[in-house]
Amino acid sequence: MAVIGFIGLGHMGGPMSANLVKAGHTVRGFDLASEATRRASEQGVTVAASTVEAVEGVDAVVTMLPGGQHLLECYDRILAAVSPGTLLIDSSTVDVADARRAHELAEEAGLDSVDAPVSGGTAGAEAGTLTFMVGGTERAYLAARDFLEPMARKVIHCGGAGNGQVTKMCNNLMLATSMLGVAEAFVLGERLGLSHRALYDVASVSTGQCWSLTTNCPVPDMVETSRANHDYEPGFAASLMLKDLGLAVSAADRSGADTELARLAARIYERFNEEGGGGYDFSAVIDSIRRHSGE
Ligand code: NAD
Repeated sequence: MAVIGFIGLGHMGGPMSANLVKAGHTVRGFDLASEATRRASEQGVTVAASTVEAVEGVDAVVTMLPGGQHLLECYDRILAAVSPGTLLIDSSTVDVADARRAHELAEEAGLDSVDAPVSGGTAGAEAGTLTFMVGGTERAYLAARDFLEPMARKVIHCGGAGNGQVTKMCNNLMLATSMLGVAEAFVLGERLGLSHRALYDVASVSTGQCWSLTTNCPVPDMVETSRANHDYEPGFAASLMLKDLGLAVSAADRSGADTELARLAARIYERFNEEGGGGYDFSAVIDSIRRHSGE
C-alpha cells in the first residue's frame, strides 16, 4: 500500500481522502482550515502541519483545491519538497491554462503529473463513485489509475495535459444549458396550466429526456434523486456551476469557439448567485426563472 499526500480536505477532498484510507493507503493530509483537518483525522487521515510535511517522501500527491491560483501556489511548495518519482494528481477544477502550467512545472521538475477533475459531487466523493477525467501521458494515466480507483466509479483517459479539465468544462456546459432548458420548460408549462406531472411523464420518455430532467429534476416530487425534494440542498452548488461556466467562457474567448449558450447560461447563473442562490443546488435556478417571469 502507498503513502499519499492529500492537500485540500474540504467538501470533496475530505471524503475522497477517507476513501483512500479505507483502501489501506496511508494518507498524510493538509488543509488551511482546522475544521477540515479535524474531520479528516476522524476518518483516519494523518494530519500534517504544512503542505511540505504532507508531501515529503510520499508516492503520490493529490490536490483538491478551490482554483488555479491555489493550485499553482501549492505546486511551488510541493515541487520543492517531493522525492523523485512522486506522481502528482490534481483533481481540482481549474482553468485549462493553469492545468497546463502545472503540468509544465511538474515536467521541469522531472515528475509525472495528471489533471484529474471529477464529476459526481459530494455524494460521489463520499460513496467513492466519482468519474475522473484524466489528462496527461499514457504512463502518468496508468500510474494514477491505481490511486484513483478507491475514489472512483470510472477513470477515463481524455488525452494529453489539460484535457481532463477540457472534458469537465465541456460536460458542465452541457449540464448547465440542459438544466436551464428543463427549468424554462417547467415554468412555461406552469404559466399555461400544464401540470408538472404531465410534462415530466411525457418528456422523460420523449426527446426532452436528459439527466437534468430524469435524475435531478428542478421541480419536486417527480424523481426520487432530485435535490428539489430536499429544499435544493446541493448536490452541485450553483456557485460552482457559475465558476465552471466562467472557465468555459474564458476558454472559448481564447480558443475562438462560438459558445453563445455558455455566455447566456453564465449570465443567468450569475444573476441567481447575486440573488443569494449560490449555496443551493444549481437546479434551484428555476426559482430565479420564476421570479423574472412577468405577471
Ligand atoms: P472546499 O472549499 O470545500 O475545499 C477546498 C479546501 O481547500 C478548503 O478546505 C480550503 O481550506 C483548502 N485550501 C485552500 N487553499 C489551500 C492551501 N494553499 N493549502 C491547503 N488547503 C487549502 O471546495 P470543494 O467543494 O471541496 O471543491 C474542491 C474542488 O473540487 C474545486 O475546484 C471544485 O470546483 C471542485 N469540485 C467540487 C464539486 C462539489 O460538488 N463540491 C464537484 C466537482 C468538483
